[in-house]
Amino acid sequence: MVHKRLGRTGIEVSRLGFGAMRLPSGSDGNPNREESVRMIHRAFELGVNYIDTAVGYCNFQSQPVVGEALKGWRDRVYVSTKNHYRGKSERAWWNHLEDSLERLDVEYIDIYNIHGINWDTWEKYAKGPHGILSWMKKARDQGLIRHICCSFHDTAEALRKIAATEEFSAVTLQYNLLDRTLEPALEELANRDIGVIVMGPVGGGRLAGVSEQIREMLPEARSNAEVALRFVLSNPNVTMAISGMSTMEQVEENCAVASRREPLTKEERQRVDLVLQRMKGLSDLYCTGCNYCMPCESGVEIPQIFLAVNQDRVYGLKQVGQAHYNHLAGKAIHCIACGKCEPKCPQNIPIRVQIREAAQRFDSAYGTMAFDLSVVRQTRQGFEMRAGFHNLSDQPGTATVSLSGGDGFCLFPTQFKLTVDKPFHRCTETLVLEIARPHPSRLQVSADIEDAKGRRTETFRFAFGNCYRAKSIDDLMARSAALDPLRVADKEQVLFCANEWGTRFSVNAWAGHSADEFLLYAQVRDSSPELDKTPNGNVLWYMDMVFDLRAREYGLAPGFQRDVFMLRTMLDNTGRAEAQRVRGSVDTAQVHVTSSEHDGIVEIRVQLPWKAFGEKVASRVPTLKSGECIGFDIVLARTNENGFPALGIGWGANPRIDSDARSGTLLLTG
Ligand code: SF4
Ligand code: SF4
Repeated sequence: MVHKRLGRTGIEVSRLGFGAMRLPSGSDGNPNREESVRMIHRAFELGVNYIDTAVGYCNFQSQPVVGEALKGWRDRVYVSTKNHYRGKSERAWWNHLEDSLERLDVEYIDIYNIHGINWDTWEKYAKGPHGILSWMKKARDQGLIRHICCSFHDTAEALRKIAATEEFSAVTLQYNLLDRTLEPALEELANRDIGVIVMGPVGGGRLAGVSEQIREMLPEARSNAEVALRFVLSNPNVTMAISGMSTMEQVEENCAVASRREPLTKEERQRVDLVLQRMKGLSDLYCTGCNYCMPCESGVEIPQIFLAVNQDRVYGLKQVGQAHYNHLAGKAIHCIACGKCEPKCPQNIPIRVQIREAAQRFDSAYGTMAFDLSVVRQTRQGFEMRAGFHNLSDQPGTATVSLSGGDGFCLFPTQFKLTVDKPFHRCTETLVLEIARPHPSRLQVSADIEDAKGRRTETFRFAFGNCYRAKSIDDLMARSAALDPLRVADKEQVLFCANEWGTRFSVNAWAGHSADEFLLYAQVRDSSPELDKTPNGNVLWYMDMVFDLRAREYGLAPGFQRDVFMLRTMLDNTGRAEAQRVRGSVDTAQVHVTSSEHDGIVEIRVQLPWKAFGEKVASRVPTLKSGECIGFDIVLARTNENGFPALGIGWGANPRIDSDARSGTLLLTG
């Protein structure tokens, strides 16, 4: 095993670190302890002297497993872990540190990281006399941690600024064959004697998939994973690569790679660079990702879709491309072939044609004619609905559909046939949905669709609930006070249809709006077993909210029709609630999210300036009336720290949920 000095920590670390985030585990996600410990010990025997973990890895079981594996090895191995706390409560931060020491069963931690820092969190929470950094220094003075470090997720520019603070001894960051975003800043870190620890050298395992193109870089390598790891280690500015290993075979293979004095010879590096340049050239021919074509009024994420196509077509990584595409909100099927993007593209890409090909490549589940069903407006009898077909083939398309539903409503017509002569164009049919009084809170419609690809059945669920005129969250809370918070099925008050993919917690939510704000008040009861919680009882929650302003005619159509505002909020029962804007035109300072816990129920309050949001969008999209209709997707999820939902509830059409829900618009009426 080759070793290298880890920046200003001064310690000599193995070039391969053991990442304890993908330990071998069973179907419940919990690691197999015996096998994990055996693998870790084998890595230690082969010279690995660095192990990295975090609170939430492997269903919160990673730290205890690492603790077990350290017995008898502690004096020869450096331990790295992270504190994800963001907030102003010093006590809460210390709780996390004390938890980690206890779970790892160690007296001190060698490398203690601020977890996932970016420039924004540095500015807001880390710096200053009462920031996270000051608490880290206290912990170091007390001998509880040895080196102050961070894991990092942001741009190369932000990385340079973080390095320039001169506060960190090492930074753990993302860098691999496909993601070289931070590469330009690595030299600066090395020059400042800051250790560079690469996480995801094999792209979270994705680069290990079948790809002839990657294989071509180093034909004699045993696997693509070897190519990826050797590429990272051959960068002279990289100190170490942490690999999340799941099998003994990976341990043996990775240790052998990290034992090479020269990960790539000069000739090999040249060949890899040459293939990468050729691939980049092919990608750029297709799309450089310049964003000039954006925004698309239909919400199509053009550059991101082309990135997914490139991953598949140019790099030969089909699964990587499909996974990237699945996470996009504005998919190829939302393109209405208006052509407005094409004159803006400096590459002269025939975007409509290429988007159509992307739909065929990634949206095959839709058949040749994609069908959607949406609510347009409320009527005296019930709702006006819109059924739409989107021809995804390059031929004229025809499809027939039969709709059926449950008790309490009638739909007209129930059978119809639609033809779309032009490839990639749409057509719609208006439907009438009559609902018996009182309104049910949920409806489910089953669509039997037949097109050129065959027959398929899709299910659409709609939730109809009250969206109150309310002055404030307190107003909403007053309405909820008389209700049993656990009676999720209360027809009068439930606003959204909840699609659960975990069954261990229940949510009750009320929504309303004032003239300026969207208001949400939700109560969540988590009945997960104690094992799933951190020792101090904290529960890690994410609340992802995606709002978009859409023209009324799009009603409840899935996907995003206009500007999108995405918000990620971290919640836990220590009262922390942090809103982070992911993208969109609303300033997060205008969004207020708080959470608190009492009697086992977490209360969440959200105030979002929908009118300001609407006005901003409307100024860019003149044809749109301000504030007409807001679409939403909300995911409330309890996750592990890798961001994978452990259990949760989703409203709307968020593609990250394994759900067939297709509804997702809050019609602001009244
Ligand atoms: S052609 Fe499609 S992708 Fe381009 S602007 Fe129109 S809807 Fe958007
Ligand atoms: S303008 Fe053209 S090259 Fe630039 S992101 Fe859009 S499609 Fe890609």
